[in-house]
Amino acid sequence: MAEEAINKDNAIISDEWNQICNQLKTEFGETAYDSWLKPLSIGSYSSGVMNICVPTPFMKNWVLTHYADRIHKIWERRNPDIKKINFIVQSFNLGNSSFRATDSSLLKKISSTPTPQNLYMPEFEKASNSNNYGAHDSFAQLSAPLNPAYTFDSFVVGQTNEFAAAAAKKVATSKNVSFNPLFLYSGVGLGKTHLMHAIAWEIKKNDPKRNVIYLSAEQFLFKFVKALRYKDMSAFKEQFRAVDVLMVDDVQFMSNKESTQEEFFYTFNSLIGEGRQVILSADKSPTDLEGIETRLKSRLSGGLVADIHPTDFNLRMGILHSKAKQMGVELPEKVAEFLAEKITSNIRELEGSLRRIVAHSQLLSKSEITLDMTQDILKDMLRSIDRKTTIDEIQKKVAEYFNISVKELQSSRRARTVARPRQIAMYLAKQLTSRSLPEIGRKFDRDHTTVMHAVRKVEDLIGTDSSLTESVNALRRSLEN
Ligand code: ADP
Ligand code: MG
Repeated sequence: MAEEAINKDNAIISDEWNQICNQLKTEFGETAYDSWLKPLSIGSYSSGVMNICVPTPFMKNWVLTHYADRIHKIWERRNPDIKKINFIVQSFNLGNSSFRATDSSLLKKISSTPTPQNLYMPEFEKASNSNNYGAHDSFAQLSAPLNPAYTFDSFVVGQTNEFAAAAAKKVATSKNVSFNPLFLYSGVGLGKTHLMHAIAWEIKKNDPKRNVIYLSAEQFLFKFVKALRYKDMSAFKEQFRAVDVLMVDDVQFMSNKESTQEEFFYTFNSLIGEGRQVILSADKSPTDLEGIETRLKSRLSGGLVADIHPTDFNLRMGILHSKAKQMGVELPEKVAEFLAEKITSNIRELEGSLRRIVAHSQLLSKSEITLDMTQDILKDMLRSIDRKTTIDEIQKKVAEYFNISVKELQSSRRARTVARPRQIAMYLAKQLTSRSLPEIGRKFDRDHTTVMHAVRKVEDLIGTDSSLTESVNALRRSLEN
């Protein structure tokens, strides 16, 4: 009896998973789906906890940052019993037809230890690699795949990212090494990986002979551990010595991994010493990175450090129009404004929402994109943005941060020590909640024009006033957690 129930559960889950897969394909597009989602398979399920199998640690990380939230939301809506989804690395699962290991020679290659050969490589990236790295096969193996969509042409530049974009462009186009290393940092989904891939494509276009290697810090770590295990350190070092441009993405993953840091430091110093370009990214500035050795930190700060600030309204509008154009759809101004106003956390989410709306309009209703439809499709998401942060919470955090009281924040005092925090609180309320200007105003005992002025003021100062920008970023991070 109990077994029957479990089988029934499994059948339901498996059916739900198929439907979710179809929805994901529609939302994210075939290429992304084939690359990242198709290789997932459902594992065990018990008392609300669903395990999903992922073939490699690298993919797991990618799926966690790009798709996990969405998968959870879709599933929860279909089946409220699903409380938690775990992604589990299972390098090979014989019973799983969705992982495309059909060749028996591949089976032999796949041992319990993953190797770069069996490290899962998304389909489109395999193709792009073989076309572009053909002449440098050993480098094709060392470098992670590049996304063909991440170029300078498709990167929209605005006030908040222009410095980072200019630095990236300069590194990509100059013959001489200008700043070494170039260190890019920002919160998630703001374009670091896009810029790094763009640099790689640009260099490959201008000078195909240069050996450009792009790796995530996790992949660097993985190759390093493998070399250690196979006692192959000299080959490991040799590979990196022949590199012209080395890019390591998300170096915060090296935190607390002393031996890898040591090796990275060595590789990094020798490349810089020989005048090769190094480009790194992280989610924090070098000095704020935790669990990274001090001498490595100071070396990381030794070139040019460029941060990408949270987006402003204009950049979000620019990105929406550019993405809509790429997708070949007409995006009404009102809808763009609505999205740009509401979805402020990062560009990945903004892009995801646009994709959902476009998918709905094309596949389900076959109708034009309208504001009503947009609000309807995104209502869960908007509700969850609201649920996450309240104006009260923002006031409390801002007051704490600036060491003033909430009463002062709401008072009519105009002293700058109070007025600036108040403007920041209003700006954050506009950004992080879906409250209207008059609603925000009421919470501060002000009218909507004051709020509007505050929002504009803070938007203007972001990017020019570094201490204000730091405060806004820190507050946003703490409120979004
Ligand atoms: P990060 O590496 O900082 O987490 P990504 O580079 O992965 O962020 O960017 C997230 C998504 O947003 C990608 O799809 C990327 O193409 C897009 N994106 C980010 N910045 C821009 C921009 N300025 N113009 C167009 N697309 C952007
Ligand atoms: Mg990234």
